[in-house]
Amino acid sequence: MIIISCGHCKADLALYQKVGRGGLQRMYLERILKSSIDLSDAPGTLLCPNCKRQLATKVYFSRKNKEAYQLIRAVFNVRPLK
Ligand SMILES: [Zn+2]
Repeated sequence: MIIISCGHCKADLALYQKVGRGGLQRMYLERILKSSIDLSDAPGTLLCPNCKRQLATKVYFSRKNKEAYQLIRAVFNVRPLK
């Protein structure tokens, strides 16, 4: 379990269940456990609720039939949930 926060203003954005090793590149909607962003209507872009900067873009993986947010490099921080 990891906490994703905004790289600009450090606001916490989401609690995410990460699978596998390596750096985080995208967030699958089904693995976002908690979010300070309203994802109920699955907006096309993810904006930080605090500083309003764009953090991710929604992408669709037809092969997996899954929606995910592709994170923009270097605009977010990740830390483990203690
Ligand atoms: Zn922010």
